[in-house]
Amino acid sequence: MAPLTFWKPGTVGPGSNLDRASETEENIVSYAPSSSLLSIQAQRERLPIFKHREKLLHCVEKYGVVIVVGQTGCGKTTQLPQYLYEAGWAQDGNVIACTQPRRVAATSVATRVATEVGSMLGDEVGYTIRFEDVSNKERTRIRYLTDGMLFREALVDPLLSSYSVIMIDEVHERSVYTDLLLGILKKIRRKRPSLRLIVSSATLDASALLEYFQAGNDADEAVILSLEGRMYPVEVAYLQEPTADYVRKAAEVAWNINSRQGPGDILIFLTGREEIDRCLEELAEYLPTRKGNAPHLTLLALHAGLTTEEQMRVFQPAERGYRKVIVSTNIAEASITIEGIKFVVDCGFVKLRTYNPTTTLSSLAVLPTSLASAVQRAGRAGRTSPGTCYRLYPHAAVRTLPRTTAPEVTRTDLTTPILQLKSLGIDDLMKFEWVSAPPAESVLRALEGLVNAGMVDRDGALTVVGQKVAECPVDVNIARMLFSSKDFQCGEEILTIAAMTAVQNVFVIPDGADGALAELERRKFTAEEGDHLTLLNAYNAFLRYGKSSSWCKNHALSFRAMSRAVSIRSQLKKYMQRFGLPLTSCEGDAKRLRQCLVSGYWRNGARWVADGTYRSVRGNIPLHVHPDSVLFTRKPKSGWVVFHEMEETKKIK
Ligand code: ADP
Ligand code: MG
Repeated sequence: MAPLTFWKPGTVGPGSNLDRASETEENIVSYAPSSSLLSIQAQRERLPIFKHREKLLHCVEKYGVVIVVGQTGCGKTTQLPQYLYEAGWAQDGNVIACTQPRRVAATSVATRVATEVGSMLGDEVGYTIRFEDVSNKERTRIRYLTDGMLFREALVDPLLSSYSVIMIDEVHERSVYTDLLLGILKKIRRKRPSLRLIVSSATLDASALLEYFQAGNDADEAVILSLEGRMYPVEVAYLQEPTADYVRKAAEVAWNINSRQGPGDILIFLTGREEIDRCLEELAEYLPTRKGNAPHLTLLALHAGLTTEEQMRVFQPAERGYRKVIVSTNIAEASITIEGIKFVVDCGFVKLRTYNPTTTLSSLAVLPTSLASAVQRAGRAGRTSPGTCYRLYPHAAVRTLPRTTAPEVTRTDLTTPILQLKSLGIDDLMKFEWVSAPPAESVLRALEGLVNAGMVDRDGALTVVGQKVAECPVDVNIARMLFSSKDFQCGEEILTIAAMTAVQNVFVIPDGADGALAELERRKFTAEEGDHLTLLNAYNAFLRYGKSSSWCKNHALSFRAMSRAVSIRSQLKKYMQRFGLPLTSCEGDAKRLRQCLVSGYWRNGARWVADGTYRSVRGNIPLHVHPDSVLFTRKPKSGWVVFHEMEETKKIK
């Protein structure tokens, strides 16, 4: 075990390299952690936002757009919609909407607010995420939804007329649909001034947004409301040398904290599920070496692949004699607040979508966090008492971090969003009031792709097929595949494949299963043609064996993912019926299926090269098969493949 001298002494107090008030302010307004002894009403009144209630409501009355900035955990997401509800903004059938960039945030917050309101989830308080609507048309008054879902609603109801107030939350994330929503809501407000807009975030360049909303409008169009709520000081420690394996290092540091430091829970930031699982395994190996005076550990994961119940476990206080270690993606950075965190371990990286307009390839890449993220992560340690943040990189690296993360609209494939904008009647993309304009090349490539796929005509207008594809709740690639299944007579199978690609984490070894045996059983579904057909086999077997959860367990499949696929399939089936697409079976003719797949993934092709790697058709980029793919150990017969997603990694070996 490495001794703690490994750490450089922390940088403490104001005037540190990150002289951000949120991290080091000493002027503290404290608020106690939620405790089961407090009634929910008392808990609500203790939140810092509570004393701003009247002012907030006044601003919403008076101004079209209220930009709310307040520390993470102060109560924006859970309280603001309730204040509006209590003040009568949801009367006469009106609904209060609150958007989140992440699905997991929408579901978890809705669950919490339903409890606070005393309603069943899906009744007065509900949520809507893609393929999952837990809300009631008549009764739901507060609806949490992903920004993408609200944007999609505008395709059907361009004035979003069922909403009296729309709160766009976590605006600092600048997800592509948040940006698009801000753009269309500015427009909608001109046509429907009674609609109120709240834009909220913990860390935000509020003045830039104020200017954005005021441009071309009256001065009282928008106002900034800043909710104070200071934090305790957070000491920041750095590694002396960079680490080659931050996952292992994170586990080691957490174990050190547990052995040497006083009470307080630990929050570890990593970039994704695989890393989180590995870190938890590393931590589990330390457990037997615990010294008598150190607390026991409660090990918890937090990422989007968990069920809502699993996510809720992170909120439960640790039992006596135990310390919680929560290993999380950046969900815990701002979307979800966990009380009692005193130690943060920040790996310094985040998984982001990147896009290369020249090759039109988009991928997920693990990149250094921005300075703003680093500060925000550190702040998680100082909510209820002074804390410490351990950054798993040397102090000198701080200077190289970008100040903020670039808006997603500047680093994503715009094919689907542009198709949707066109469907909204926004034809002149240059005239659209972007918060940040996307690179011209991304727009051009997207348009080019849409023209080639027959969804937009040469004059830039939406075609009939384009209009239908825009309505489909899936990516353009998948929608196109559904449409061409008519020509290849394989609608039945393509529908299943489309549904299966919309769920994550299908192949998992469930708790309590015999892993090796289950995996062996699962291999029976493997199709030598590749992952799409393997998914199809797994789905069909799931149906054949009566959608049984024990069967899933014995075949290393996630029952939850499989059930979700069944539900998504039936939803997509309605679209196919509406568009007159036949549900013909290809009767085992894999060739037709593969042709249909290529029509969907027309831009994601790659060719096998002699050394066992691949080269992308566009850009000739070297690619490797992901270890989870059935093609990891196989050469494709034809020498060509299409791929669903690309992820950038530092390839080891
Ligand atoms: P903000 O949006 O300003 O970051 P939230 O409204 O999300 O703040 O959270 C307000 C408070 O409610 C926080 O102190 C948080 O810890 C608490 N909270 C949120 N969800 C839950 C939950 N599921 N269980 C217990 N406490 C919760
Ligand atoms: Mg929030």
